[in-house]
Amino acid sequence: MQRIEVIFISHLHGDHIYGLIGLLSTFSLLGRTADLTIVGPSELKEWLDLTFKISDTFLSFPIHYIHTQKTSEWIWENDFLKVKSIPVRHRVACNAFLFQEKPLERKIIKSYISTHRLTLDELLMLKKDRAIERKDGQHISPDDVCSPRQLPRKYFFCTDTLPLQLNDDDLMAVDLMYHESTFLEDHVKRAKDTYHSTAKQAAEVALFYQVKRLILGHFSARYSDLTAFEAEAASIFSQVECAEEGKKYSLTITESRLQ
Ligand SMILES: [Zn+2]
Repeated sequence: MQRIEVIFISHLHGDHIYGLIGLLSTFSLLGRTADLTIVGPSELKEWLDLTFKISDTFLSFPIHYIHTQKTSEWIWENDFLKVKSIPVRHRVACNAFLFQEKPLERKIIKSYISTHRLTLDELLMLKKDRAIERKDGQHISPDDVCSPRQLPRKYFFCTDTLPLQLNDDDLMAVDLMYHESTFLEDHVKRAKDTYHSTAKQAAEVALFYQVKRLILGHFSARYSDLTAFEAEAASIFSQVECAEEGKKYSLTITESRLQ
């Protein structure tokens, strides 16, 4: 848990934030000192500050807040990853998040290191996708000695919202999309009235963005059998499964860009 450096909050409904107080308190009890960043609606800071004040709680680490806006923006990044905040349509201000890897270093095929007598400096250049010009006129391109380029992986987290088909190229062909499906089509009107989606609508969104895999979640407690969600979505989009709390899902690199 102490490796978590940033937490993303989509909106301020209780089922999305009530666990945060406990989580932050646990970080503190475990003696965390490292800074934590929280990305979310601006009122989140107000709510946390008030809660900690009236419960006389002092955290052992500093929190930095980044406020989500009503427009899409790249909102956070580190050395490996950048995150885009995307407003969706819910009863209160709510943002989805696109997590996108930064371009990966090229992988050098080992046998070429000796064949070309590559020096350490040359290896570093090639990994950064830069060609080498040697003094004797020899030219070595990254494509000569590296494995095919790998596409950065993308994960799109989208909840709670009416089904949206936004024109945003960054959302096309993501490796994995989590989309809420609070209801089945039997309650499509209720889904609309409460600004939520059905499993069928989530599948239509997946189809629109040509995502590689869809995970459904945020099921209404009125449904005891979740297999119906998968079945409803699968009639439109076959690469679908229902989210299981605590389960880890891998973002496999699914294709290589051919040179
Ligand atoms: Zn909500």
